Amino acid sequence: MLKKALITGITGQDGAYLTKLLLEKGYKVYGLLARRSTATTWRLEALDVFGKIELIEGDLTDVTSIIRAIEIAQPDEFYNLGAQSFVGTSWKQPQLTAQSTGLGALNCLEAIRIVDSKIKFYQASTSEMFGGMPEYPLQSETTPFHPRSPYGVSKLFAHWMTINYRESFDIFGCCGILFNHESPLRGIEFVTRKVTDAVARIKLGVQKDLHLGNIDAKRDWGFAGDYVEAMYLMMQQNHPDTYVIATGRTTTVRDMCKIAFKYVDLEYENYVVIDPQFYRPAEVELLLGNADKAKEKLGWHAKTSLEQLITMMVDEDLRRVAEELR
Ligand code: NDP
Ligand code: GDP
Repeated sequence: MLKKALITGITGQDGAYLTKLLLEKGYKVYGLLARRSTATTWRLEALDVFGKIELIEGDLTDVTSIIRAIEIAQPDEFYNLGAQSFVGTSWKQPQLTAQSTGLGALNCLEAIRIVDSKIKFYQASTSEMFGGMPEYPLQSETTPFHPRSPYGVSKLFAHWMTINYRESFDIFGCCGILFNHESPLRGIEFVTRKVTDAVARIKLGVQKDLHLGNIDAKRDWGFAGDYVEAMYLMMQQNHPDTYVIATGRTTTVRDMCKIAFKYVDLEYENYVVIDPQFYRPAEVELLLGNADKAKEKLGWHAKTSLEQLITMMVDEDLRRVAEELR
């Protein structure tokens, strides 16, 4: 029988890639679409999936709209990808972050419990919950949490709520603790995309330099297209569980810049300017994930290297900027 999925955050990076994957697998896909004053569907258009899905108006902070969406879609699987997902913004809008990223997940769980507790639930947890504490240089499912931003704290609330609904109400609630994952569809405020966009603009002569904050921070960066496969696989298991999804390689922001600039024959040192406005009140210095459990239980591993990812992003930004200039 045709499987149905409901995705919150469908207009985001992961929402677009997951939609493509589920359509390829024969799913009917529904998405919760938050009301905005301008269109937000460009990523769905970029992956050629807009028009092949059904969008239902609703917001994570309005539980009645989630109940309504579930009643319309009657999904087998519910993927909660919606969030205020940018760490930097979470200090400027901590309450909004708590409401959408934290309480929003609880609203989804409550809606499932009320309407149909058999619906499988995926929660987009994050490596930011670990906080990159120096005593835990490699993070797995058993590493203690120490979030370092309102975003991390909100995600930890959502994470534990999902586990509690699993244990209390027997809801099939999965948590994917995903490390940073990027793509040409990544938001421009995140450091990889900020860098690849700047590289394209500098190469094409329309930008002079690139202002960044802490370039010694280390991240375990993977490709979003690989990571949505892990989400899907978690939901196909017999039992709900928590999995770390990562590449197992960590790189400084500095070295990531090096890769991006080098690809177009430029030296990053000639363009990167350290700008205190991009420093954060608290930094997560080192993220490096151990995804052995996902490999063993889901048969999942990251397929795309950082070099492949960054060159894919630079290529797409070169194309976009060249088009803008025409
Ligand atoms: P994006 O920021 O690209 O997408 C966020 C999505 O959430 C958008 O569709 C946005 O809608 C939607 N949204 C925001 N607020 C609300 C709200 N109040 N009601 C309904 N929808 C809302 O995130 P990603 O795709 O990169 O990430 C997907 C999920 O995974 C997020 O929860 C993120 O926190 C988490 N995550 C991401 C990681 C990463 O490296 N990408 C790592 C670990 C976890 P709109 O377009 O209208 O703004
Ligand atoms: P995060 O891991 O979810 O916070 O993803 P980001 O891509 O926003 O940030 C990754 C790392 O890059 C963090 O340690 C940031 O402090 C660091 N960084 C350095 N300069 C910048 C910048 O200009 N913008 C962003 N977004 N991050 C920066």
